[in-house]
Amino acid sequence: MGVVKLVVQVRLLPTPEQAAALEATLRTVNAAATWVSALAHHRRVFRNYDLRRHAYGQIKDDYRLAAQAAQHVIKKVTDAYATLHANIRNGNLGKPGSVRRERALATPIVFRPGAAHPFDDRCLSWQMDTRTVSIWTTRGRMKNVAFTASAEQLQTLAAHRKGESDLLYRDGMWFLIATCDIPDRPVAAPDGFLGVDLGIANIATTSGGVRHSGKALNAVRHRHRELRRRLQAKQTTSAKRLLKRRRRAEARFAANTNHIIAKRIVTEAARTGQGIALEDLQGIRDRVRLRKPQRVTLHSWSFHQLGSFIAYKAARQDVAVVHVDPAYTSQACSSCGHVDKRNRPDQATFSCTSCGFAEHADVNAARNIASRGVAGWAVSHAADDAA
Ligand SMILES: [Zn+2]
Repeated sequence: MGVVKLVVQVRLLPTPEQAAALEATLRTVNAAATWVSALAHHRRVFRNYDLRRHAYGQIKDDYRLAAQAAQHVIKKVTDAYATLHANIRNGNLGKPGSVRRERALATPIVFRPGAAHPFDDRCLSWQMDTRTVSIWTTRGRMKNVAFTASAEQLQTLAAHRKGESDLLYRDGMWFLIATCDIPDRPVAAPDGFLGVDLGIANIATTSGGVRHSGKALNAVRHRHRELRRRLQAKQTTSAKRLLKRRRRAEARFAANTNHIIAKRIVTEAARTGQGIALEDLQGIRDRVRLRKPQRVTLHSWSFHQLGSFIAYKAARQDVAVVHVDPAYTSQACSSCGHVDKRNRPDQATFSCTSCGFAEHADVNAARNIASRGVAGWAVSHAADDAA
């Protein structure tokens, strides 16, 4: 039995006094983290135990942090360096000698005053019935800090929240991001699979023939690109701030769109007793052919998000999810299996040159993904049946 990791983000509604305490706290722990980071970088000490010996007493005194808070600050710094070093090792910052990589190695990590900070159960407790939290701050424990959450989020938090939550300040708002472990229960053999094809014009198309249009989202992205083009010429602070706000608004809109689509797909599968077959996204870069590389990144990120929303909602409803190899799903005939580039006379149409089967191109691809789902499930559960 596996576990699906999910983050639940709730907005805090602090009183002015509570907000001031939260702000002072984040400012203090991030200043302390930046100081510890400089020390770690200077002395080349990146392990938690070693760094604690060098920094613990000092940040407790200089930043007036309680023991627990001081340890969290040190852990945050060692975690940040562990991530950075892993990224360098994996070549994510370029080859040895590249400007980005050398700069990352030469300068210590700096934490913004509002950067996210982890709070464990001793520093943060949740009261679901009153929708409030009690949280440690540098000005003492703040009780009854209100938060907003949907009924679904409350239920998930109450049942599955585990470990630390991150406090962060963004766009003038306070958020807590909690991690939940949803158990991935073994599910009954589904009655066939609902295939899901991912794309740009249609974000998701199911083998049941339902197309979830990307029109609204693409319009928002287009407007944002236009705005960026106009503003990038001016390098003013206000232009930069506006761009940042727009970028976040776009990300929120995309996440909301993905939530709605995921919900509809899982509902469609649950209603019909089917499992869900998704494309394995490893190959998404090759499949979504776009001229601009940054758009590939954007879309593949968005597809991953949609996939994780579907996995989470499916796990809650005991709907099986399988991932299939998406190779040739757009060129293969879902009726006779004939593979031919000419089966796609244009972007929207599928028309088989062998058997004459015709369908919307995305629906045809989704039908191929569905039948690969059936095959994939049979292979991965053959051992169960034999037992
Ligand atoms: Zn055919």
